[in-house]
Amino acid sequence: MADPDPLSPPPPLRDLMARGPVALFLDFDGTLVEIAPEPGAIHVPDDLVERLHRLRNRLDGRLALVSGRALDDLCDHLGEVSICRAGSHGVSRLFADGSRLGKEPVGLPDAAVTELREYAQEHELFYETKLHGGALHFRGKPDLRDQVTDFVTEVAERHELCVTSGKGVAELVRPGANKGGAVRAFMDEQTFKGATPVFVGDDVTDEDGFSGAMARGGFGVAVGDRISAGARYRLDDVAAVHDWLDL
Ligand SMILES: [Mg+2]
Repeated sequence: MADPDPLSPPPPLRDLMARGPVALFLDFDGTLVEIAPEPGAIHVPDDLVERLHRLRNRLDGRLALVSGRALDDLCDHLGEVSICRAGSHGVSRLFADGSRLGKEPVGLPDAAVTELREYAQEHELFYETKLHGGALHFRGKPDLRDQVTDFVTEVAERHELCVTSGKGVAELVRPGANKGGAVRAFMDEQTFKGATPVFVGDDVTDEDGFSGAMARGGFGVAVGDRISAGARYRLDDVAAVHDWLDL
């Protein structure tokens, strides 16, 4: 039987760079650092930032970190970085020097938040306010999954929002508030313009990044064994990403 997802590793980075300017967009957890049981428990290698700065120099600044974490959280783990970065699933964006790219992220409309809070209270779920949206957590009540998904889909339609779902969580965000939006925003900037964007990530939220890269003539690289809908290549794990980046 044929392999259902026969993606090969990407060409070596130096070969890609020899063909023309490359812009790299890198997810963090599960891509640059190993996933930990708790988000706070990740191990960041001592020299990771130094190596990322070297990579940024090789790419003439066309490197961006694009994480699901809030930027402050990312900073807590990495320390000071002079690299373009986008947090909260790519919605909050900073240039390498720390100045902001675009607007501050906007939360959900009040009416939508009220509906979500009431639903959470009624069904004893946890509602989490996020910088760029809101999330209903139902990990403790997996049997409610379909019901919660239907409810947030309805709320999304009424308030013109988008649903993003993960394991045990249904999240609502503003349209375009995803990792693909981060790729578009950076690629419109002078430093990145004309380069081939390559997005590397391990999770379902990275698919938006893959699409964003493809829309600008580039491609996605999936990390790990998750079946990807939109990646062109695959790297096996975090170690393979580091090897490919020559970190
Ligand atoms: Mg990840």
